[in-house]
Amino acid sequence: MKTGPSFQLLAEYSADIICRTGLDMRFLYISPSCVQVLGYTPEEMMNMEPFGHVLPEDLPGLAAIANRNLIPGTESSRATARMRKKDGTVIWMEVTARVVRDPATDEPIEAVIVMRDVTERKLMEDRLAMLALTDDLTRLANRRAFDQDLDREWKRTLREGSQISLLLLDVDHFKEFNDRYGHQVGDDCLRTIAIAVQGAVRSTDIAARYGGEEIAVILPSTDTAGAVEVAEKVRSAIEALKLTREGHPEGGKWVTASMGVATALARDGGTMRMPESLLLAADNALYKAKYEGRNRIATALLVAFKAG
Ligand code: GH3
Ligand code: MG
Ligand code: MG
Repeated sequence: MKTGPSFQLLAEYSADIICRTGLDMRFLYISPSCVQVLGYTPEEMMNMEPFGHVLPEDLPGLAAIANRNLIPGTESSRATARMRKKDGTVIWMEVTARVVRDPATDEPIEAVIVMRDVTERKLMEDRLAMLALTDDLTRLANRRAFDQDLDREWKRTLREGSQISLLLLDVDHFKEFNDRYGHQVGDDCLRTIAIAVQGAVRSTDIAARYGGEEIAVILPSTDTAGAVEVAEKVRSAIEALKLTREGHPEGGKWVTASMGVATALARDGGTMRMPESLLLAADNALYKAKYEGRNRIATALLVAFKAG
């Protein structure tokens, strides 16, 4: 294909980067907008490794669309890839590629590629995806995120043949707290507790709002002793907040929370459904902690389970 005057005009005035490449992916033409978008002149782009400015982990995605395009009948293919600008910053580009075929033989001869900066759209999409997994009140992961995370972490536990613990926290006598201080103060209390929990757990632990005044923490690769250690840090961090609590049925002065901790060891040959059984065991342990006087931790241990 020749780069005729109309193609040249369109290409040179487009905000997108428009290129032609040979089937070896070497650039034959690059429109001047690559200066604004990537910081490289067309000459610089021509002289570098083809797509050498693409982050290595995103190259397979681009190779896949190039291969897909060679399949007869494919109109065009699209992928998103991160590219490093000349100044070092990374942007998201949507790459649409189309194969040009010889009109006589229908053999592929070269490709036309349009690259569009979609960084803002991508950031917005990422933000929306993040919001969909975040609890509005506490900013912890929400129940949906928790379910996904627990599933993933249990599968990993099975793969590694290791163990996983789950901590279920429930604020003590919170109904009466709300009745006494009002729902707004109750909400503030939950926010403050969520920050304390997040601050007390390790960076590998995943804290989520499980329900109303219940917080769950996934503790990957953690045995019961390790989980109790984390739970005790959480329990004392909440107590140390000294959130005033008059008329505490158990006589304390501050807001407290009880915790159930359950640990599952991955073993072949079990029959119980996981990770549901882990949740159930943590819930039973929590009930025990409540029954035994609240502001404390109770544990449960499960062995020999297989994936549900
Ligand atoms: P226990 O020690 O046995 O857990 O007693 P409890 O009163 O905390 O237990 P219960 O499950 O009976 O009550 C939970 C209360 O938590 C009910 C509701 O008023 C309160 N709650 C749940 N979600 C929220 C929330 O988002 N904001 C506020 N302010 N209160 C909430
Ligand atoms: Mg509750
Ligand atoms: Mg409660």
